[in-house]
Amino acid sequence: MCKRIFILTGAGVSAESGLGTFRDKKGAGIWSRFDPMKLATPEAFARDPEKVHEFYNARRLNLLAATPNAAHVALAALEVALAKRGGHLTLVTQNIDDLHERAGSMNVIHMHGELLKARCVACHRLTLWRRDMSTADACPACGRANALRPHIVWFGEMPLYLKEIFAALNEADMFVSIGTSGSVYPAAGFVAEARALGIRTFEINLERSDNADEFDETRYGRASEAVPDWVAEILMSS
Ligand code: NAD
Repeated sequence: MCKRIFILTGAGVSAESGLGTFRDKKGAGIWSRFDPMKLATPEAFARDPEKVHEFYNARRLNLLAATPNAAHVALAALEVALAKRGGHLTLVTQNIDDLHERAGSMNVIHMHGELLKARCVACHRLTLWRRDMSTADACPACGRANALRPHIVWFGEMPLYLKEIFAALNEADMFVSIGTSGSVYPAAGFVAEARALGIRTFEINLERSDNADEFDETRYGRASEAVPDWVAEILMSS
């Protein structure tokens, strides 16, 4: 049985909770309706902060109305079950939602930031933020006005926790990618890194990802069904 499992999740794990994905092969992703270069870059925020706030305010409202699905719940159960067996689950997500946490996952690494946090560009402190954000808001930590931004890694910015992520990958005996299109680096490169380390690699997705050929095994289906099935198989094999 694999005892040290490294999981990377993407927007597909939250799709059935009602949160749109960015890309899919049918062109229904968020970025087919909005231009990312006008919204999810530091340059866009410098040019028109209220427009960027408006986009993330709408997504925050959407998130607060969403609930975790069976895939989130199964991954939370896997974390507990592996720990009881002396193993460990590293859960890295590209998602900015908090649905893994709400399902019960205790250690989630948000490499692209978190929608329910504000970051102050002056004092760099993070604040939990569940309401609309605007340029009129002052930082609760340092009081500076017009200094808050969503705690999101935008295009052109460095993802978070990469040192911890690669350290965890080095100690894993299985790499599993769930609901991600394999098109955003460096996350899309984790499978190549895992292969180079000799770790077994597995993809669960609705459809083939851009880097599906790099996986030892693949399984296609809705996350809410495919993930609980896979978790049950992993736990049965112990
Ligand atoms: P993506 O939009 O590029 O790809 C989504 C993937 O999920 C596709 O491969 C699609 O086939 C798959 N998918 C769709 N519905 C599914 C389902 N029901 N079950 C299983 N798989 C399903 O998403 P990504 O690869 O995570 O892209 C990375 C970027 O998207 C990140 O920067 C991330 O921050 C951002 N993002 C996050 C959220 C969120 O927080 N919920 C939502 C949209 C985008």
